[in-house]
Amino acid sequence: MRGVRICARAVVLAAGVAYRRLGVPELDAYVGSIVYYGAATAMAREMKGRHVVVVGGGNSAGQAAIHLATFAAQVSIVVRRDGLGATMSDYLIREIDATSNIDVRTGTRVVGGGGEGRLEWLEVEVRDADVVRRERVEAGGLCLLIGADPACDWVPAAVTRDEKNYLQTGRDVPQDRWRDGRPPASLETAVPGVFVAGDIRSGSMKRVAAAAGEGATVVALVHDHLARLRADEFAADARGRPPEISRWCGARSTTATLRRVRLTA
Ligand SMILES: Cc1cc2nc3c(=O)[nH]c(=O)nc-3n(C[C@H](O)[C@H](O)[C@H](O)COP(=O)(O)OP(=O)(O)OC[C@H]3O[C@@H](n4cnc5c(N)ncnc54)[C@H](O)[C@@H]3O)c2cc1C
Repeated sequence: MRGVRICARAVVLAAGVAYRRLGVPELDAYVGSIVYYGAATAMAREMKGRHVVVVGGGNSAGQAAIHLATFAAQVSIVVRRDGLGATMSDYLIREIDATSNIDVRTGTRVVGGGGEGRLEWLEVEVRDADVVRRERVEAGGLCLLIGADPACDWVPAAVTRDEKNYLQTGRDVPQDRWRDGRPPASLETAVPGVFVAGDIRSGSMKRVAAAAGEGATVVALVHDHLARLRADEFAADARGRPPEISRWCGARSTTATLRRVRLTA
């Protein structure tokens, strides 16, 4: 379907998020085996008895480290900042402090790594006051929790975003984009008929159950939207005027904007 243009009366965007990459090419070969992006649960059992490095200072990194510590011999949390306080919840920091096989390496970033056939060591850069030194750290696993970006670069700008580029819906849509003083439906964007479900939505829970729930909810909203379009068409027909849908499919309309959206397979 590459390059095919589709005109639709309703569109649901549920493209999720893309995980930020570490940017260390020599570690790319290990991604999915020993190096995981955002996958502490998936890798935990494999890490039995090993030293695991968790990169990231957010709550997801804290939760991952605590979970991995029940399997791994040692877990090291690596963060570039001077501490976890600014980015992680207090309850997690307390739990990390109380877990004997977790240590936190601040002012540190992973810059390389390698091994004989499998990941065995990481090279880290440690900043200590004005001094920067490199160290080799034994590592049997690497869990990267360094954030994610919504997968919406391709979505037209008419669909508004929050400051982190997540798609806005309902009352989160800026008021100057509301129609007749009313906000869009709860999962509808600034463009009528364009809906959003799951992680890509601003304010979403980033959880499976929430994404599935929104997926189910959005179906009802799409039905409502299509029913309204049909009602508009009947009413316009009865008055002998062009129906609303014709206006939307006009050259300068919002649906015309959507026509420029390329849905790639
Ligand atoms: C490793 C990991 C562990 C997790 N563990 C848990 C957990 O234990 N419990 C929990 O509740 N949640 C967990 N989550 C979060 C949960 O997976 C997400 O909240 C949920 O999958 C979001 O669903 P979604 O449909 O919004 O996005 P996704 O499940 O990410 O699906 C988006 C889909 O859209 C596709 N896509 C992207 N761009 C395009 C495009 N341009 N065209 C066509 N298709 C596109 C993607 O390939 C993908 O298939 C975890 C996430 C990760 C990464």
